[in-house]
Amino acid sequence: MKGSIIINKELCKECHLCIYACPRGCISPTREYNSRGYHPVCQNKNNECTGCTLCAVMCPEVAIEVYRE
Ligand code: SF4
Ligand code: SF4
Repeated sequence: MKGSIIINKELCKECHLCIYACPRGCISPTREYNSRGYHPVCQNKNNECTGCTLCAVMCPEVAIEVYRE
């Protein structure tokens, strides 16, 4: 199954739980800042997302939406 995610960078608090949760290595840290001074994560360009939702379930800030094709 093919999936994709949208990360709300303003909600992200840089805990990186989603990075550890993703079995496909789809999420990476960034060096940019959001308005609260955190480095939000981003979805990798070589997206291998399956839409499994593990990242969204793990995120304590509910910052990730998952879509399946
Ligand atoms: S939905 Fe699953 S495969 Fe896609 S980014 Fe989240 S944890 Fe990774
Ligand atoms: S789990 Fe949520 S708050 Fe933590 S790094 Fe990922 S998107 Fe940001």
